[in-house]
Amino acid sequence: MAVVKSNAYGHGLEETVEALRGFADWFGVNSIEEALRVRKIDPATPLLIMGANEPEQYAALKEISVKPELVVSSIEAIQSLQEQAPGTRFHLKVDTGMSRLGFHGSAFETVLTYLADHPALPWCGLMTHFANVEDVTDQEYALLQLERFAKAREKSLQAAGKRALLFHSAASGAALILPSARMDLVRVGISLYGMWPSRETRISARSMSSADLPADFDLMPALTWKTRIVHVNSIEAGTPVGYGCTHRPVQDSRVAVLPVGYFEGYDRRLSNQSHVLIRGKRAPLLGRVCMNMIMVDITHIPEAAVGTEVVLIGTSGAETVSADDLAGLSDTINYQVTTAIQSDLTRILLREIPE
Ligand SMILES: *Cc1c(COP(=O)(O)O)cnc(C)c1O
Repeated sequence: MAVVKSNAYGHGLEETVEALRGFADWFGVNSIEEALRVRKIDPATPLLIMGANEPEQYAALKEISVKPELVVSSIEAIQSLQEQAPGTRFHLKVDTGMSRLGFHGSAFETVLTYLADHPALPWCGLMTHFANVEDVTDQEYALLQLERFAKAREKSLQAAGKRALLFHSAASGAALILPSARMDLVRVGISLYGMWPSRETRISARSMSSADLPADFDLMPALTWKTRIVHVNSIEAGTPVGYGCTHRPVQDSRVAVLPVGYFEGYDRRLSNQSHVLIRGKRAPLLGRVCMNMIMVDITHIPEAAVGTEVVLIGTSGAETVSADDLAGLSDTINYQVTTAIQSDLTRILLREIPE
C-alpha cells in the first residue's frame, strides 16, 4: 500500500497517485476528503481510509462507484457506516500498544461477538499500528505488539465465519526491519518517498543484510524543493539582516532574497542555521526566516542573480541538503519537514531521475 495521506507527505497527492498508478496494489489515505481526491484520478485501485473521520461524512462515500474501505475503531462507527453508505467494506483496528485508535482490551472481544452475530457485515480486515519501531534498534516492544496481534488474529478468524480477512500491521519501519510484520499488506509512507523513518531504522536495516533486505539496499529522496532568487542586495559589513537584527555580516556582502518563508513551510527554527544550494555551492541563511521570505549569503557566488535557481531541499552539483538535515536543525523529523511544504506550491512530476 502506498500511503499518500497529508498531500503525499508534501509531495503532492495527485502527482503521487499519478506516478504510482499501476505500481501500488493499494492507496492509503487519512480522510474521506483525500479519498475523494484519489478517486478523481484513480477510479479503481483499492483504497483504505485509515484516519478518524466524522460519521457525518460517511454519506459522501455513497457517490463513489468503487468504494474505499474504512478503518473502524468502534461498533458505533460500523453501524453509522452501514446506515449511511451501506455495503462499505471495513477493517477493524486493534490497539496492541499505541493507545491511539483501535479496539482496546474488552472492547475488542465485544466487537468480535457483534461481528460474529452479524455475518452479513462486510468486515474484511484486521490491522494494528506499531508505537515504537522507529525510535529504537531493540524491537522488544514491537515484538510484544506482534504477539498481541497474533492473538487478535486467531480470535478474528473464529469470528469472521466465511469472511476473508486481510491482516496488516507494518508501516515503513516494520516493513523494512521486521519481516514477520509484513503479513498480507505493508503500508509504506515515508520510505516510498525515499526517506528513512529514522536513523535507528537505517542502522537496523544496515545490520540485517539477510535475504529480506539486501546489504546494499538504500533509499533515495524523491523530492527536490526549488525556488528562484527574487531580489539581490549589496550591504556593508555590520549592516543587520532581517527581523530582530539577529545577523550582522562581518564583511561587505551580497544578500539574495528568496520568496519562501514559514508560511510556505520553511521552518522558522532554521533561522541563522540552514543552507540553501545555488549553482552547486552552499549559501547560508542570514537572520530569521520571515513569513514569506528568507535571505541568504551569496557573496561567494558572484554568478547568482535575480532569477537564479535555488535548491532548498535536494542536490546541486556535489552538495546536498536533505529533509533529514533540515529536520536535525529544526529539532523535528523528516516527516514534518516535507509535509510542511505548503500544498499550494506547484508540484512538478518528473518520471526520470534528473542528472
Ligand atoms: C501514516 C501511516 C502509515 C505509514 O507510515 P510510514 O512510517 O510513513 O511508513 C502506516 N499506517 C498507518 C496506520 C498510518 O497512519
